[in-house]
Amino acid sequence: MTTVYKFGGAAIHDAAAIRRLGERLASDRTRPLVVVVSAMGKTTNSLEALLAAARHDDDTDYRARLEALRHDHLATAEALFGDRAAPVGERLGALFEELDRRHRRYRGEARPLHYDQTIGFGELLSTTLVAAWLNASGVATQWRDARELIITDDCHQAANVDWRATTQRIRGLGIGDDAIVLTQGFIAGTADGTPTTLGREGSDYSAAIFAHCLEAEAVVIWKDVPGLFNADPRRFANAVQLARISYDEAIELAWHGAKVIHPKTLAPLRHKGIPLVVRSFEALDAPPSIIAADGPDAPTPAFILAEGQALLELHPRDFAFMDEPRLHDIFGRLAAAGLHAGLVDLGAARLSLCLDAHPARLDPLVASLACDYALERYDALTLLTVRHPTDALLSALSGTRTILAERRNATTAQRLFLASECPATWHIPA
Ligand code: ASP
Ligand code: MG
Repeated sequence: MTTVYKFGGAAIHDAAAIRRLGERLASDRTRPLVVVVSAMGKTTNSLEALLAAARHDDDTDYRARLEALRHDHLATAEALFGDRAAPVGERLGALFEELDRRHRRYRGEARPLHYDQTIGFGELLSTTLVAAWLNASGVATQWRDARELIITDDCHQAANVDWRATTQRIRGLGIGDDAIVLTQGFIAGTADGTPTTLGREGSDYSAAIFAHCLEAEAVVIWKDVPGLFNADPRRFANAVQLARISYDEAIELAWHGAKVIHPKTLAPLRHKGIPLVVRSFEALDAPPSIIAADGPDAPTPAFILAEGQALLELHPRDFAFMDEPRLHDIFGRLAAAGLHAGLVDLGAARLSLCLDAHPARLDPLVASLACDYALERYDALTLLTVRHPTDALLSALSGTRTILAERRNATTAQRLFLASECPATWHIPA
């Protein structure tokens, strides 16, 4: 059975990192293997800035950005191959020429189309370099173009997978028992060969697509952190790693704002019961985190902070109930504004909503709601969500802080605090 590995930009951000990746694959006998790789480091951000320069007709900025990217990739090739860098340098050079040609061809077209014809070059460049390095260092690797394997519609920048066509193409690779196939994350193509992309940070999803179509044994996402935690370790001093959680739990955590694995990535895996393993490429001995069909018998409490929140309290103007027609109206406006309420609480004549205080999106919604409802707004709030809470945990976490809104069901509790009363670093109570 095939295993799918995914390496993000941090795992290949320079020559030393690519060398380590090569050593890893040389000593790891897992085969057959599909290796999905992102663009090097922050290349995709740089490519987006290059796209902006191209669309603004700012030729000086465009040239400077293109040269900087070319320089970085060629310098990495030289650091890896020394005086044998010419062949791979030529292939990288040809990709840069093609990228430049496409910017000239597409800059008058709609931005999503222009985007998909150019931004995926980060992955084409990185995989060209990594494949050359693996083959040169004795790890036989087949480079494959994901634009011909993951088949999508033409919804540019957020293309939808055609599962039947994709399965056919990917199975058609006929991956040999000892093979390593190296391909790109994030990029795909339509049936007639127009490049598309799957959305920013889409490489995890690419790995899941390959795994789904191959009915793989597992997907391993190699990261610079040892795995998934029960809270953001940068905000909670004593966050602990989660050894195993269920797909459903991972989806709940993501829904409440945890930076775990995107539900879109989990769906194709859950469908086939393929586990997703998150491991550290820096600490190989560290135990991984596993997302699979069944979690532990006693789930670990998890803590999610959403900062920069606003609370809206809405009342019907005529002392009427906050009934279904009014709820329908209010949630319709939220949906139209593309806003998600992280906490919803309902009373007879009140609806409380906690939302991201994103001014460009929230302010017009507030203005429109204030025309038809009595509305109070509170800002500078922090929403704490606790999965699998106990009373003791909640009261220890809340202390004497003001609670502006709260909600609790069998598996989840949420409390909304004033940011000014919240600590810079939280502690999970013992
Ligand atoms: N390189 C793409 C991005 O940075 C895809 C990925 O890394 O997942 O968004
Ligand atoms: Mg990336």
